[in-house]
Amino acid sequence: TQVMVCSGTACTSADSQILRQALQEEIYKRGLEENIKLFKTGCFGFCQQGPIVMVHPGGVFYCQVRPEDTGKLVEAHLVNGRIVERLLFEDKVTGKRTPGIEDIHFFRAQKRIVLRNCGVINPEEIGEYIARDGYFALADVVLNKKPQEVIDTVIKSGLRGRGGAGFPTGRKWELAAAQNVTPKFVVCNADEGDPGAFMDRSILEGDPHSVLEAMAIAGYCTGAGQGYIYVRAEYPIAVERLEIAINQAKEAGLLGRGIFGTTFEFDIDLRFGAGAFVCGEETALLQSVMGQRGEPRPRPPYPAQEGLWGKPTLINNVETYANIPVILREGWEWYYGHGTASSKGSKVFSLAGKINNTGLIEVPMGTTLKTIIFDIGGGITGGKKFKAVQTGGPSGGCIPEKYLDLPVDYESLKEIGSIMGSGGMIVMSEDDCMVDIARFYLEFTQDESCGRCTPCRVGTKRLLEILRIITGGKGEMEDLDLLEELAGDIRDASLCGLGQTAPNPVLSTLRHFRKEYIAHVMDKT
Ligand code: SF4
Repeated sequence: TQVMVCSGTACTSADSQILRQALQEEIYKRGLEENIKLFKTGCFGFCQQGPIVMVHPGGVFYCQVRPEDTGKLVEAHLVNGRIVERLLFEDKVTGKRTPGIEDIHFFRAQKRIVLRNCGVINPEEIGEYIARDGYFALADVVLNKKPQEVIDTVIKSGLRGRGGAGFPTGRKWELAAAQNVTPKFVVCNADEGDPGAFMDRSILEGDPHSVLEAMAIAGYCTGAGQGYIYVRAEYPIAVERLEIAINQAKEAGLLGRGIFGTTFEFDIDLRFGAGAFVCGEETALLQSVMGQRGEPRPRPPYPAQEGLWGKPTLINNVETYANIPVILREGWEWYYGHGTASSKGSKVFSLAGKINNTGLIEVPMGTTLKTIIFDIGGGITGGKKFKAVQTGGPSGGCIPEKYLDLPVDYESLKEIGSIMGSGGMIVMSEDDCMVDIARFYLEFTQDESCGRCTPCRVGTKRLLEILRIITGGKGEMEDLDLLEELAGDIRDASLCGLGQTAPNPVLSTLRHFRKEYIAHVMDKT
Protein backbone atom coordinates (compact mmCIF):
# COMPACT_ATOMS: atom_id res chain seq x y z
CA THR A 1 0.00 0.00 0.00
CA GLN A 2 1.24 3.46 -0.90
CA VAL A 3 0.11 6.62 0.83
CA MET A 4 0.93 9.83 -1.04
CA VAL A 5 0.78 13.14 0.76
CA CYS A 6 0.87 16.36 -1.26
CA SER A 7 3.85 18.47 -0.32
CA GLY A 8 3.35 21.40 -2.68
CA THR A 9 3.30 24.91 -1.25
CA ALA A 10 -0.51 25.11 -0.85
CA CYS A 11 -0.82 21.82 1.05
CA THR A 12 2.34 22.56 3.04
CA SER A 13 0.82 25.84 4.17
CA ALA A 14 -2.24 23.82 5.23
CA ASP A 15 0.03 21.68 7.48
CA SER A 16 0.61 18.68 5.18
CA GLN A 17 4.10 18.29 6.68
CA ILE A 18 2.62 17.84 10.17
CA LEU A 19 0.03 15.50 8.68
CA ARG A 20 2.75 13.38 7.04
CA GLN A 21 4.61 13.17 10.32
CA ALA A 22 1.43 12.13 12.14
CA LEU A 23 0.70 9.45 9.52
CA GLN A 24 4.27 8.18 9.79
CA GLU A 25 3.99 7.89 13.58
CA GLU A 26 0.65 6.11 13.32
CA ILE A 27 2.04 3.63 10.80
CA TYR A 28 5.10 2.93 13.00
CA LYS A 29 2.97 2.70 16.14
CA ARG A 30 1.01 -0.13 14.55
CA GLY A 31 4.11 -1.81 13.08
CA LEU A 32 2.82 -1.38 9.52
CA GLU A 33 5.95 0.16 8.02
CA GLU A 34 6.87 -2.98 6.09
CA ASN A 35 3.63 -3.00 4.11
CA ILE A 36 2.66 0.66 3.97
CA LYS A 37 4.93 3.20 2.32
CA LEU A 38 4.46 6.90 2.81
CA PHE A 39 5.52 9.29 0.02
CA LYS A 40 5.73 13.00 -0.66
CA THR A 41 4.32 14.18 -3.98
CA GLY A 42 4.02 17.47 -5.79
CA CYS A 43 0.78 19.36 -6.35
CA PHE A 44 -2.38 17.40 -7.30
CA GLY A 45 -3.85 20.72 -8.41
CA PHE A 46 -6.92 20.81 -6.17
CA CYS A 47 -5.31 23.30 -3.77
CA GLN A 48 -8.69 24.41 -2.41
CA GLN A 49 -9.13 20.94 -0.87
CA GLY A 50 -5.71 20.55 0.74
CA PRO A 51 -4.06 18.84 2.49
CA ILE A 52 -4.56 16.02 0.01
CA VAL A 53 -3.74 12.34 0.57
CA MET A 54 -4.03 9.61 -2.04
CA VAL A 55 -4.01 5.91 -1.17
CA HIS A 56 -3.00 3.20 -3.66
CA PRO A 57 -4.11 0.66 -4.77
CA GLY A 58 -7.42 2.13 -5.80
CA GLY A 59 -6.32 5.75 -6.05
CA VAL A 60 -8.60 6.89 -3.22
CA PHE A 61 -8.52 10.68 -3.08
CA TYR A 62 -8.86 12.15 0.41
CA CYS A 63 -9.07 15.87 0.96
CA GLN A 64 -8.82 18.38 3.79
CA VAL A 65 -7.20 15.70 5.93
CA ARG A 66 -6.15 17.01 9.34
CA PRO A 67 -3.43 15.52 11.58
CA GLU A 68 -6.19 14.43 13.98
CA ASP A 69 -7.75 12.31 11.17
CA THR A 70 -4.71 10.05 10.88
CA GLY A 71 -5.78 7.46 13.48
CA LYS A 72 -9.11 6.93 11.75
CA LEU A 73 -7.52 6.86 8.27
CA VAL A 74 -4.93 4.27 9.23
CA GLU A 75 -7.33 2.09 11.23
CA ALA A 76 -10.21 2.12 8.74
CA HIS A 77 -8.49 2.22 5.36
CA LEU A 78 -4.94 0.98 5.80
CA VAL A 79 -5.73 -1.77 8.30
CA ASN A 80 -9.31 -2.77 7.47
CA GLY A 81 -9.62 -1.65 3.81
CA ARG A 82 -12.67 0.55 4.48
CA ILE A 83 -12.83 3.93 2.76
CA VAL A 84 -13.32 6.89 5.13
CA GLU A 85 -16.36 8.57 3.52
CA ARG A 86 -16.08 11.75 5.56
CA LEU A 87 -12.70 12.60 4.02
CA LEU A 88 -13.77 12.13 0.39
CA PHE A 89 -14.49 15.10 -1.84
CA GLU A 90 -18.14 16.09 -1.77
CA ASP A 91 -19.73 17.29 -5.01
CA LYS A 92 -21.71 20.40 -4.02
CA VAL A 93 -24.30 19.87 -6.78
CA THR A 94 -25.07 16.16 -6.31
CA GLY A 95 -24.12 15.96 -2.64
CA LYS A 96 -22.25 12.72 -3.44
CA ARG A 97 -18.81 11.81 -2.17
CA THR A 98 -16.53 10.00 -4.62
CA PRO A 99 -13.25 8.17 -4.00
CA GLY A 100 -11.69 8.39 -7.49
CA ILE A 101 -10.44 11.59 -9.11
CA GLU A 102 -11.92 10.45 -12.43
CA ASP A 103 -15.38 11.11 -10.92
CA ILE A 104 -14.56 14.63 -9.75
CA HIS A 105 -15.53 17.47 -12.15
CA PHE A 106 -12.41 19.40 -11.26
CA PHE A 107 -10.25 16.72 -12.89
CA ARG A 108 -12.53 15.36 -15.59
CA ALA A 109 -12.08 18.02 -18.30
CA GLN A 110 -8.35 18.29 -17.70
CA LYS A 111 -5.53 16.91 -19.83
CA ARG A 112 -2.33 16.55 -17.85
CA ILE A 113 0.63 16.70 -20.23
CA VAL A 114 2.90 19.13 -18.41
CA LEU A 115 1.55 18.06 -15.01
CA ARG A 116 1.83 14.35 -15.91
CA ASN A 117 4.07 13.60 -12.93
CA CYS A 118 2.78 16.16 -10.43
CA GLY A 119 0.96 14.34 -7.64
CA VAL A 120 2.18 11.04 -9.08
CA ILE A 121 5.88 10.81 -8.22
CA ASN A 122 8.04 11.79 -5.30
CA PRO A 123 9.88 14.81 -6.76
CA GLU A 124 12.85 14.18 -4.48
CA GLU A 125 13.54 10.72 -5.97
CA ILE A 126 15.16 10.64 -9.40
CA GLY A 127 14.35 6.91 -9.64
CA GLU A 128 10.63 7.69 -9.67
CA TYR A 129 11.09 10.14 -12.54
CA ILE A 130 13.12 7.58 -14.47
CA ALA A 131 10.48 4.91 -13.78
CA ARG A 132 7.98 7.16 -15.60
CA ASP A 133 10.29 7.25 -18.68
CA GLY A 134 12.23 10.23 -17.39
CA TYR A 135 15.56 10.98 -19.11
CA PHE A 136 14.64 8.55 -21.93
CA ALA A 137 14.17 11.47 -24.32
CA LEU A 138 17.60 12.84 -23.36
CA ALA A 139 19.20 9.41 -23.90
CA ASP A 140 17.55 9.03 -27.30
CA VAL A 141 18.53 12.55 -28.37
CA VAL A 142 22.16 12.33 -27.25
CA LEU A 143 22.75 8.78 -28.54
CA ASN A 144 20.65 8.68 -31.70
CA LYS A 145 19.69 12.13 -32.98
CA LYS A 146 21.29 15.08 -34.70
CA PRO A 147 20.49 18.49 -33.13
CA GLN A 148 18.60 19.74 -36.21
CA GLU A 149 16.45 16.59 -36.21
CA VAL A 150 15.33 17.35 -32.64
CA ILE A 151 14.75 21.03 -33.40
CA ASP A 152 12.60 20.04 -36.40
CA THR A 153 10.49 17.84 -34.12
CA VAL A 154 9.96 20.74 -31.70
CA ILE A 155 9.05 23.06 -34.61
CA LYS A 156 6.59 20.54 -36.07
CA SER A 157 4.93 19.96 -32.69
CA GLY A 158 3.69 23.57 -32.79
CA LEU A 159 4.87 24.27 -29.22
CA ARG A 160 4.85 28.00 -28.44
CA GLY A 161 6.49 29.73 -25.48
CA ARG A 162 4.34 29.43 -22.36
CA GLY A 163 5.88 32.44 -20.62
CA GLY A 164 3.51 34.88 -22.27
CA ALA A 165 4.56 35.94 -25.75
CA GLY A 166 3.78 32.61 -27.46
CA PHE A 167 6.81 32.66 -29.79
CA PRO A 168 7.36 29.30 -31.59
CA THR A 169 9.79 27.41 -29.35
CA GLY A 170 11.54 25.44 -32.09
CA ARG A 171 12.30 28.63 -34.04
CA LYS A 172 13.98 30.10 -30.97
CA TRP A 173 16.09 26.94 -30.62
CA GLU A 174 16.97 27.11 -34.32
CA LEU A 175 18.13 30.72 -34.01
CA ALA A 176 20.36 29.91 -31.02
CA ALA A 177 21.74 26.81 -32.76
CA ALA A 178 22.58 28.82 -35.89
CA GLN A 179 24.96 31.19 -34.06
CA ASN A 180 28.61 30.43 -34.76
CA VAL A 181 29.82 31.75 -31.43
CA THR A 182 30.90 29.93 -28.27
CA PRO A 183 30.23 29.48 -25.46
CA LYS A 184 26.45 29.40 -25.55
CA PHE A 185 23.98 29.24 -22.68
CA VAL A 186 20.55 27.81 -21.89
CA VAL A 187 18.40 29.64 -19.35
CA CYS A 188 15.14 28.71 -17.64
CA ASN A 189 12.90 31.59 -16.65
CA ALA A 190 11.36 30.57 -13.32
CA ASP A 191 10.75 34.13 -12.18
CA GLU A 192 6.99 33.78 -11.98
CA GLY A 193 5.75 37.14 -10.76
CA ASP A 194 2.07 37.57 -11.67
CA PRO A 195 -0.21 37.98 -8.66
CA GLY A 196 -2.23 34.77 -8.31
CA ALA A 197 -0.01 32.68 -10.59
CA PHE A 198 1.72 29.50 -9.39
CA MET A 199 2.07 27.28 -12.47
CA ASP A 200 5.86 27.30 -12.65
CA ARG A 201 6.24 26.93 -8.90
CA SER A 202 4.05 23.83 -8.91
CA ILE A 203 5.89 22.23 -11.84
CA LEU A 204 9.26 22.79 -10.15
CA GLU A 205 7.93 21.48 -6.84
CA GLY A 206 6.25 18.45 -8.40
CA ASP A 207 8.48 17.46 -11.31
CA PRO A 208 11.83 19.28 -11.31
CA HIS A 209 13.64 16.65 -13.41
CA SER A 210 11.39 17.30 -16.42
CA VAL A 211 12.83 20.82 -16.60
CA LEU A 212 16.43 19.65 -16.11
CA GLU A 213 16.02 16.99 -18.81
CA ALA A 214 14.56 19.53 -21.26
CA MET A 215 17.35 22.03 -20.58
CA ALA A 216 19.99 19.38 -21.25
CA ILE A 217 18.22 18.52 -24.53
CA ALA A 218 18.17 22.24 -25.40
CA GLY A 219 21.89 22.40 -24.60
CA TYR A 220 22.58 19.49 -26.95
CA CYS A 221 20.51 21.08 -29.74
CA THR A 222 21.97 24.57 -29.49
CA GLY A 223 25.57 23.67 -28.60
CA ALA A 224 25.43 25.10 -25.06
CA GLY A 225 27.32 23.55 -22.17
CA GLN A 226 25.94 25.57 -19.28
CA GLY A 227 22.41 26.20 -18.10
CA TYR A 228 21.00 28.56 -15.48
CA ILE A 229 17.63 28.40 -13.77
CA TYR A 230 16.58 31.85 -12.61
CA VAL A 231 14.14 31.05 -9.83
CA ARG A 232 12.40 33.29 -7.31
CA ALA A 233 14.03 33.14 -3.92
CA GLU A 234 10.50 33.36 -2.47
CA TYR A 235 9.88 29.80 -3.70
CA PRO A 236 11.80 27.88 -1.00
CA ILE A 237 10.25 24.46 -1.72
CA ALA A 238 10.89 24.78 -5.45
CA VAL A 239 14.48 25.87 -4.78
CA GLU A 240 15.09 22.96 -2.42
CA ARG A 241 13.65 20.40 -4.88
CA LEU A 242 15.72 21.87 -7.71
CA GLU A 243 18.88 21.62 -5.64
CA ILE A 244 18.10 17.99 -4.78
CA ALA A 245 17.24 17.19 -8.41
CA ILE A 246 20.41 18.80 -9.81
CA ASN A 247 22.59 16.88 -7.34
CA GLN A 248 20.83 13.59 -8.11
CA ALA A 249 21.13 14.15 -11.88
CA LYS A 250 24.84 14.90 -11.48
CA GLU A 251 25.40 11.78 -9.36
CA ALA A 252 23.55 9.71 -11.95
CA GLY A 253 25.75 11.09 -14.76
CA LEU A 254 22.79 12.83 -16.42
CA LEU A 255 24.34 16.26 -15.97
CA GLY A 256 28.02 17.13 -16.12
CA ARG A 257 30.66 15.59 -18.35
CA GLY A 258 30.30 12.64 -20.71
CA ILE A 259 26.51 12.31 -20.57
CA PHE A 260 25.54 8.75 -21.63
CA GLY A 261 29.19 8.03 -22.37
CA THR A 262 29.37 10.65 -25.13
CA THR A 263 31.41 13.84 -25.38
CA PHE A 264 28.32 15.93 -24.62
CA GLU A 265 28.55 17.87 -21.38
CA PHE A 266 26.00 20.10 -19.77
CA ASP A 267 25.71 21.59 -16.33
CA ILE A 268 22.99 23.57 -14.54
CA ASP A 269 23.29 26.16 -11.77
CA LEU A 270 20.65 28.14 -9.95
CA ARG A 271 20.38 31.92 -9.83
CA PHE A 272 17.92 33.57 -7.47
CA GLY A 273 15.53 36.40 -8.27
CA ALA A 274 14.73 38.87 -5.52
CA GLY A 275 11.10 39.46 -6.47
CA ALA A 276 11.29 42.22 -9.11
CA PHE A 277 8.46 41.62 -11.59
CA VAL A 278 10.47 43.17 -14.42
CA CYS A 279 13.10 40.41 -14.10
CA GLY A 280 10.60 38.07 -15.75
CA GLU A 281 11.30 40.03 -18.96
CA GLU A 282 14.02 38.04 -20.68
CA THR A 283 16.62 40.76 -21.24
CA ALA A 284 16.20 42.05 -17.65
CA LEU A 285 16.46 38.48 -16.36
CA LEU A 286 19.74 37.96 -18.20
CA GLN A 287 21.12 41.17 -16.70
CA SER A 288 20.18 39.87 -13.26
CA VAL A 289 21.81 36.47 -13.91
CA MET A 290 25.02 38.37 -14.67
CA GLY A 291 24.75 40.22 -11.37
CA GLN A 292 23.66 43.51 -12.96
CA ARG A 293 20.61 45.60 -12.17
CA GLY A 294 17.59 43.88 -13.76
CA GLU A 295 16.69 46.38 -16.47
CA PRO A 296 15.40 45.44 -19.93
CA ARG A 297 17.28 46.46 -23.07
CA PRO A 298 15.99 46.97 -26.61
CA ARG A 299 15.76 43.95 -28.93
CA PRO A 300 17.24 43.07 -31.44
CA PRO A 301 19.76 41.69 -30.87
CA TYR A 302 17.69 38.88 -29.35
CA PRO A 303 19.13 36.80 -26.50
CA ALA A 304 19.46 33.86 -28.91
CA GLN A 305 21.97 36.07 -30.75
CA GLU A 306 23.51 38.05 -27.89
CA GLY A 307 22.51 37.09 -24.39
CA LEU A 308 24.58 36.26 -21.31
CA TRP A 309 27.99 37.93 -21.53
CA GLY A 310 27.18 38.83 -25.15
CA LYS A 311 26.95 35.15 -26.15
CA PRO A 312 24.01 33.27 -27.74
CA THR A 313 21.54 32.35 -25.01
CA LEU A 314 18.38 30.30 -25.33
CA ILE A 315 15.74 31.29 -22.80
CA ASN A 316 12.42 29.52 -22.22
CA ASN A 317 10.10 29.34 -19.26
CA VAL A 318 9.46 26.39 -16.92
CA GLU A 319 6.24 25.18 -18.55
CA THR A 320 7.71 25.37 -22.06
CA TYR A 321 10.62 23.15 -21.01
CA ALA A 322 8.36 20.70 -19.18
CA ASN A 323 6.61 19.97 -22.51
CA ILE A 324 9.80 18.97 -24.30
CA PRO A 325 10.58 15.45 -22.94
CA VAL A 326 7.04 14.23 -23.56
CA ILE A 327 6.92 15.72 -27.09
CA LEU A 328 10.13 13.88 -27.97
CA ARG A 329 8.95 10.63 -26.42
CA GLU A 330 5.44 10.62 -27.87
CA GLY A 331 6.25 12.32 -31.19
CA TRP A 332 5.31 15.71 -32.63
CA GLU A 333 2.17 14.30 -34.30
CA TRP A 334 0.73 13.30 -30.93
CA TYR A 335 1.33 16.75 -29.45
CA TYR A 336 0.11 18.51 -32.61
CA GLY A 337 -3.14 16.56 -32.26
CA HIS A 338 -4.07 18.54 -29.13
CA GLY A 339 -5.27 22.13 -29.17
CA THR A 340 -6.49 24.54 -31.86
CA ALA A 341 -5.23 25.42 -35.34
CA SER A 342 -2.69 27.97 -34.09
CA SER A 343 -2.18 26.93 -30.44
CA LYS A 344 -1.09 23.35 -29.94
CA GLY A 345 -0.92 21.18 -26.84
CA SER A 346 -2.25 22.11 -23.45
CA LYS A 347 -1.97 25.05 -21.06
CA VAL A 348 -1.56 25.11 -17.30
CA PHE A 349 -3.60 27.75 -15.47
CA SER A 350 -3.80 28.74 -11.85
CA LEU A 351 -7.42 29.39 -10.95
CA ALA A 352 -7.96 31.99 -8.27
CA GLY A 353 -10.37 34.67 -7.13
CA LYS A 354 -14.14 34.26 -6.55
CA ILE A 355 -14.31 30.68 -7.73
CA ASN A 356 -15.28 27.56 -5.79
CA ASN A 357 -12.41 25.32 -6.88
CA THR A 358 -9.18 27.26 -6.75
CA GLY A 359 -6.04 25.44 -7.80
CA LEU A 360 -3.81 24.36 -10.62
CA ILE A 361 -5.35 22.99 -13.79
CA GLU A 362 -4.19 21.88 -17.23
CA VAL A 363 -6.54 21.84 -20.22
CA PRO A 364 -6.15 21.32 -23.96
CA MET A 365 -5.76 24.63 -25.81
CA GLY A 366 -9.19 25.63 -27.11
CA THR A 367 -11.11 24.67 -23.96
CA THR A 368 -13.79 27.29 -23.36
CA LEU A 369 -13.73 29.75 -20.47
CA LYS A 370 -17.11 28.35 -19.44
CA THR A 371 -15.69 24.84 -19.03
CA ILE A 372 -12.74 26.18 -17.05
CA ILE A 373 -14.75 28.42 -14.74
CA PHE A 374 -18.02 26.52 -14.27
CA ASP A 375 -17.12 22.88 -14.86
CA ILE A 376 -13.57 22.59 -13.55
CA GLY A 377 -13.76 25.66 -11.32
CA GLY A 378 -17.20 24.78 -9.92
CA GLY A 379 -18.68 28.25 -10.52
CA ILE A 380 -18.69 31.40 -8.45
CA THR A 381 -18.40 31.43 -4.68
CA GLY A 382 -21.54 32.03 -2.65
CA GLY A 383 -23.78 31.39 -5.68
CA LYS A 384 -22.97 34.90 -6.95
CA LYS A 385 -23.09 35.96 -10.58
CA PHE A 386 -19.98 35.81 -12.73
CA LYS A 387 -18.75 39.21 -13.83
CA ALA A 388 -15.31 38.80 -15.44
CA VAL A 389 -12.16 36.76 -15.63
CA GLN A 390 -8.71 38.30 -15.77
CA THR A 391 -6.25 36.33 -17.87
CA GLY A 392 -2.56 37.08 -18.29
CA GLY A 393 -1.98 38.60 -14.86
CA PRO A 394 -1.33 42.33 -14.52
CA SER A 395 -0.43 42.46 -18.21
CA GLY A 396 -3.70 40.90 -19.26
CA GLY A 397 -7.25 42.02 -19.65
CA CYS A 398 -10.65 41.45 -18.04
CA ILE A 399 -13.04 39.33 -20.09
CA PRO A 400 -16.82 39.75 -19.62
CA GLU A 401 -19.60 37.15 -19.57
CA LYS A 402 -20.46 37.39 -23.27
CA TYR A 403 -17.14 35.71 -24.10
CA LEU A 404 -17.59 32.68 -21.82
CA ASP A 405 -17.89 30.39 -24.84
CA LEU A 406 -14.57 31.61 -26.19
CA PRO A 407 -12.07 28.80 -26.80
CA VAL A 408 -8.92 29.78 -24.95
CA ASP A 409 -5.90 30.15 -27.20
CA TYR A 410 -3.30 32.83 -27.94
CA GLU A 411 -5.16 34.49 -30.81
CA SER A 412 -8.71 34.46 -29.45
CA LEU A 413 -7.65 36.07 -26.16
CA LYS A 414 -5.72 38.77 -28.01
CA GLU A 415 -8.68 39.56 -30.22
CA ILE A 416 -10.80 40.53 -27.22
CA GLY A 417 -8.13 42.69 -25.60
CA SER A 418 -6.48 40.21 -23.24
CA ILE A 419 -3.53 37.83 -23.48
CA MET A 420 -2.71 34.26 -22.53
CA GLY A 421 0.24 35.46 -20.45
CA SER A 422 1.83 32.82 -18.32
CA GLY A 423 -1.49 31.35 -17.12
CA GLY A 424 -2.88 33.24 -14.15
CA MET A 425 -6.69 33.32 -14.18
CA ILE A 426 -8.52 35.42 -11.62
CA VAL A 427 -12.30 35.29 -11.50
CA MET A 428 -14.47 38.23 -10.39
CA SER A 429 -18.06 38.18 -9.23
CA GLU A 430 -20.92 40.69 -9.34
CA ASP A 431 -19.52 42.16 -6.09
CA ASP A 432 -16.31 43.39 -7.73
CA CYS A 433 -15.89 46.89 -9.12
CA MET A 434 -13.98 46.63 -12.39
CA VAL A 435 -12.53 50.13 -12.06
CA ASP A 436 -11.05 49.13 -8.70
CA ILE A 437 -9.67 45.97 -10.31
CA ALA A 438 -8.01 47.99 -13.08
CA ARG A 439 -6.55 50.30 -10.42
CA PHE A 440 -5.23 47.34 -8.41
CA TYR A 441 -3.34 45.91 -11.39
CA LEU A 442 -2.02 49.30 -12.41
CA GLU A 443 -0.77 49.94 -8.87
CA PHE A 444 1.14 46.68 -9.19
CA THR A 445 2.75 47.42 -12.58
CA GLN A 446 3.42 51.04 -11.67
CA ASP A 447 5.20 49.87 -8.56
CA GLU A 448 7.19 47.30 -10.54
CA SER A 449 8.20 49.63 -13.41
CA CYS A 450 12.00 49.73 -13.48
CA GLY A 451 11.88 53.40 -14.48
CA ARG A 452 14.21 53.12 -17.43
CA CYS A 453 11.89 54.59 -20.07
CA THR A 454 9.62 57.64 -19.77
CA PRO A 455 6.34 56.30 -21.24
CA CYS A 456 6.21 53.57 -18.59
CA ARG A 457 7.79 55.44 -15.68
CA VAL A 458 5.79 58.66 -16.03
CA GLY A 459 2.86 57.36 -18.09
CA THR A 460 1.74 54.61 -15.68
CA LYS A 461 2.04 57.05 -12.77
CA ARG A 462 -0.21 59.57 -14.52
CA LEU A 463 -2.62 56.82 -15.57
CA LEU A 464 -2.90 55.71 -11.97
CA GLU A 465 -3.48 59.28 -10.77
CA ILE A 466 -6.43 59.62 -13.17
CA LEU A 467 -7.84 56.26 -12.05
CA ARG A 468 -7.58 57.34 -8.41
CA ILE A 469 -9.40 60.59 -9.21
CA ILE A 470 -12.19 58.59 -10.87
CA THR A 471 -12.53 56.03 -8.08
CA GLY A 472 -12.38 58.88 -5.57
CA GLY A 473 -15.57 60.29 -7.11
CA LYS A 474 -13.89 63.38 -8.59
CA GLY A 475 -13.59 62.28 -12.22
CA GLU A 476 -15.04 63.95 -15.32
CA MET A 477 -16.26 62.30 -18.51
CA GLU A 478 -13.28 63.61 -20.48
CA ASP A 479 -11.00 61.71 -18.08
CA LEU A 480 -12.17 58.50 -19.74
CA ASP A 481 -10.91 59.70 -23.13
CA LEU A 482 -7.68 60.85 -21.53
CA LEU A 483 -7.24 57.41 -19.94
CA GLU A 484 -7.74 55.72 -23.28
CA GLU A 485 -5.36 58.02 -25.13
CA LEU A 486 -2.62 57.82 -22.50
CA ALA A 487 -2.97 54.02 -22.19
CA GLY A 488 -2.56 53.69 -25.96
CA ASP A 489 0.57 55.87 -25.91
CA ILE A 490 2.14 53.87 -23.07
CA ARG A 491 1.40 50.62 -24.89
CA ASP A 492 2.95 51.88 -28.13
CA ALA A 493 6.01 53.68 -26.77
CA SER A 494 7.30 51.63 -23.82
CA LEU A 495 10.56 49.78 -24.14
CA CYS A 496 9.64 46.37 -22.78
CA GLY A 497 6.67 44.06 -22.29
CA LEU A 498 5.94 45.37 -18.80
CA GLY A 499 5.14 48.88 -20.03
CA GLN A 500 3.64 47.74 -23.32
CA THR A 501 1.08 45.57 -21.53
CA ALA A 502 0.57 47.57 -18.31
CA PRO A 503 -2.43 49.50 -19.77
CA ASN A 504 -4.25 46.26 -20.72
CA PRO A 505 -6.40 46.06 -17.56
CA VAL A 506 -7.44 49.70 -18.04
CA LEU A 507 -8.11 49.36 -21.77
CA SER A 508 -10.02 46.09 -21.43
CA THR A 509 -12.22 47.34 -18.59
CA LEU A 510 -12.89 50.59 -20.48
CA ARG A 511 -13.88 48.47 -23.47
CA HIS A 512 -16.04 45.92 -21.69
CA PHE A 513 -17.16 47.71 -18.50
CA ARG A 514 -17.34 51.40 -19.51
CA LYS A 515 -20.63 51.74 -17.68
CA GLU A 516 -18.83 51.24 -14.38
CA TYR A 517 -16.41 54.09 -15.14
CA ILE A 518 -19.36 56.29 -16.07
CA ALA A 519 -21.13 55.32 -12.82
CA HIS A 520 -18.08 56.50 -10.84
CA VAL A 521 -18.00 59.79 -12.74
CA MET A 522 -21.74 60.40 -12.32
CA ASP A 523 -21.76 59.45 -8.64
CA LYS A 524 -19.72 62.24 -7.09
CA THR A 525 -21.03 61.93 -3.56
FE1 SF4 B 1 11.40 49.63 -17.37
FE2 SF4 B 1 8.78 50.02 -17.82
FE3 SF4 B 1 10.53 50.84 -19.62
FE4 SF4 B 1 10.14 48.20 -19.23
S1 SF4 B 1 8.66 49.65 -20.06
S2 SF4 B 1 12.09 49.27 -19.48
S3 SF4 B 1 9.75 48.20 -17.00
S4 SF4 B 1 10.35 51.60 -17.49
